[in-house]
Amino acid sequence: MRIGTIASHSALNIISGAKTEGFETVLLSTPNRTEFYRSMDSNGEIIEVDSFADILSIQLDDVVWIPHGSFVAYIGAQRILESTLPLFGNKELLKWEEDRQLKAKLLHESGLETPLEFDDVNDIDRPVIVKTYGAAGGEGYFIAKDKDEVLKNIPSDKQYSIQEYVVGTKVFVTYFNSLAKDRLEVFGADIRYETDADANLRFDDRPSFVVIGNLPMVLRESTLHRYYEIGKNFIEGFRRLTGQELPGPFCIETIIDRDQRICAFEFSGRIVAGTNIWIPSSPYSFLQFGEEMWMGKRIAREIGELMQEDRLDEAIL
Ligand code: AMP
Ligand code: AMP
Repeated sequence: MRIGTIASHSALNIISGAKTEGFETVLLSTPNRTEFYRSMDSNGEIIEVDSFADILSIQLDDVVWIPHGSFVAYIGAQRILESTLPLFGNKELLKWEEDRQLKAKLLHESGLETPLEFDDVNDIDRPVIVKTYGAAGGEGYFIAKDKDEVLKNIPSDKQYSIQEYVVGTKVFVTYFNSLAKDRLEVFGADIRYETDADANLRFDDRPSFVVIGNLPMVLRESTLHRYYEIGKNFIEGFRRLTGQELPGPFCIETIIDRDQRICAFEFSGRIVAGTNIWIPSSPYSFLQFGEEMWMGKRIAREIGELMQEDRLDEAIL
């Protein structure tokens, strides 16, 4: 069995971890990226494709693919859901991630607080963030201090949702749910740095939320404990709603306010790019394993252990 992915997002994380665990790797790359990826990965197989979506027509029976953020961005959620690609993790969660109502349902079922949603503009009674559908990485979002400002800026040609703007610190916590070890691991935390909402100097009131990268975060230990419970509740909530497991990495995206209220606004059922800062180890993964352990390596370790027990199919849903 080989481990493969597409050349963006957290591919280097995934490929290096797979190699460390003794797997051969496959990277799908577009021509403009190949030289760079070859410089980072001198001996893995690189297959050049015109577009990442070509993954859907590539027939490689010996590869398990590791999905990351660029899969949805470049291939599309629907096409992934309809495909028969052997993807590590649970595709079903993509449906819950894509649909705003399902998303809220799952977060609530997991006992998480979420930002208020305004279905009717006339109900707006506080600062809000307006999110256009299908926006990649926060592009096209805007914030407004009241109803009038929303009405002035709302796009007429796009679907959008309106959420209470939660003031606080953005904290993204990544987990690994191991079927082989039958345990949940809190893997690492980070802060997503977004231009120019996070910039110190700005001369307008229209900050952009386009993600630039990630900064490491080590949480208060008392808060970390709360996130462990959140992760467990999330897995159980998903199980109650779908009867299915959530194998492998996932992330819960939250804002912690001044009263230490944790508000969840998003989740991802796959490796997130925030784990790239935790190569070769996060403090939490090091504590759990007593060795260097980054997310790509963690995924490959799980695949190896499940293969040994002849259970890999349980993690490809
Ligand atoms: P890219 O391959 O860099 O174009 O990214 C594909 C998708 O993943 C886009 O929607 C990005 O916004 C998202 N993405 C990439 N890197 C990060 C990151 N560090 N944090 C959050 N999202 C990211
Ligand atoms: P999302 O596309 O939902 O992941 O949101 C992109 C970014 O918008 C987040 O990383 C936050 O910085 C910001 N954001 C999203 N929802 C909220 C909210 N309800 N309150 C404040 N900021 C938010």
